[in-house]
This record gives sequence, structure tokens and C-alpha cells, in this order.
Amino acid sequence: MPADYHSHTPLCHHAEGTPEAYVDAALAAGLSEFGISDHAPAVPEPFDDWRMAESDLPAYFDWIERARGHAAGRIPVRAGLECDWLPGCEGWIESLAGRHDWDYLIGSVHYLEDWDFDNPKWIGRWAEVDVAAVWQHYWSTYADMARSGLFDLLGHPDLVKKFSHRPSGDLARYYEPVIEAILASAAAIELNTAGWHKPCAEAYPEPGFLRLACQAGIPLVLSSDAHAPGEVGRDFDRATALALDAGYRSTLLFEKRGSRSEALVPVGEDGALDVRGRGDLDR
Ligand code: ZN
Ligand code: FE
Ligand code: FE
Ligand code: ZN
Repeated sequence: MPADYHSHTPLCHHAEGTPEAYVDAALAAGLSEFGISDHAPAVPEPFDDWRMAESDLPAYFDWIERARGHAAGRIPVRAGLECDWLPGCEGWIESLAGRHDWDYLIGSVHYLEDWDFDNPKWIGRWAEVDVAAVWQHYWSTYADMARSGLFDLLGHPDLVKKFSHRPSGDLARYYEPVIEAILASAAAIELNTAGWHKPCAEAYPEPGFLRLACQAGIPLVLSSDAHAPGEVGRDFDRATALALDAGYRSTLLFEKRGSRSEALVPVGEDGALDVRGRGDLDR
């Protein structure tokens, strides 16, 4: 199975489990690598109630070290953060980038102005907005995030559909400009399986976006966005099939903010193919 780089910790106040339990789950799922990417601090603090505070960073580094100690060479454990793309955040992200020997940084858009539109707490606001205008705003914000060049991986590309609000017509009109921006940035996108368990009942991004991204040559990572150990590597068989169907034949591995590719192997066709794919990685 490919790597899973998107997982959370109790430091964000809405995830559970121990580092040992996450690593055990990653081993049980047969992932090639496991990465930790909790919700990064944001400023000014207190920012909201669903992320770690800046003062939690030492505890976060301890969590990563505990996971590595438990993994004990059985699976690489990578260190990341899921950072929020907010107006004027560039200097803060650069500051966070210097706090640790990160393997990758994920950039995510959860906020449009003061509205964390994916938060069930504020779902009522969806009834008051123009969905097409929100989509326009979301995708232009996402393109700005890509163009910043601050992130190795761009999170859940079409999160804006979480509660099933979609404008009518062909959505490619929203996707095409952002795919151009992502391509120019050289960042990868994730195929985030958490969406299958949300009202939209679709992985992020949807197959149409994934096909356009693959045609454009944007690299891909599979991710579960696990907020509990039982969610690590969740639906990776289904995601692998979806990625292969969209045209992908490899996914990315991250280390110290560099990347290399790993063959994407059809589920059930491991064995020789799988060994060959991994052998290429010299590891
Ligand atoms: Zn979360
Ligand atoms: Fe997120
Ligand atoms: Fe996440
Ligand atoms: Zn996320």
C-alpha cells in the first residue's frame, strides 16, 4: 500500500489515540510509510478550537519521536503539519517551516474569510450563501495557496463540496485554472479518502478533478486524514483503484521536503510487481 501522510493527534482537540496505536495501524494496513500532519498553530492565538497552540509544538515533536521509537525501523515515520492557508499567512508558514526538520508541509483551505466552511458547527451559514460564489472564492483561494509555493502537498482539493453544496453544470470551469496553478507550483495533491465518510460521500477530489490533474502531470499522494488509529489507511484499496482509473501509475514519497515516486500497484496484484516497485526506491 502507498504511504499515508495525513493523520492527526489529540493536540488538535478533535482526534484520539496514541502514537503507538497509529503506528500499529499503519503496520497492519501494510503502508509503505506513515506521516503525522496535525493541524498547525495559526496566529493570532487563540485562533480557533480545533488546532494545536504554538506552545504545543514541543509536545507534538515528542509525539513524532514516540511514533518513531515504536516503529523502530519497521516503517518510516514522517513529520509534517497541515497548515491553514489564511490571508497574509506567508510569514507565519515560513516561521513554522523553520521549527522542525519537516518531511513535508500540507496546505489546506478550511477558511474563507472568517468562516471555516467545513466545520459542522457553522453548517447553517451554507443556507445563507450563494453556492457558486463560495465555490469561486474557494478555488481562487486554493490557487493562491498553490502559487505561494510554501507547501509540498495540497490537502483535500474539493473540500468545499463536503456538505454536498455544488453549483450546477460542468465543474471543470472551476478546476482548470487551479490545476494550472498547482502544476506551476510543482506541489502534489492528495486523494483524501475521508470524504467518503462525509455527507458528500465522495473522496476529495472527485474523479473528474483527478483525471484532469493526472492529465496535467500533477503528482498524487493517497491519504486518510485519520483522526483515530482505526482510520489510518482507510479505503486505500478503493482509492488505489480510483487513482489507477484516473490514469495514475505512481504516488509520491516525502522525506526532508524532497520527494520521489513509488509505483502504484493494483490491489491484489502485489507480489512480484510490488517488490519491483519498492526495489526501485533503494530502501
Ligand atoms: Zn481535523
Ligand atoms: Fe483539513
Ligand atoms: Fe487533516
Ligand atoms: Zn485535513
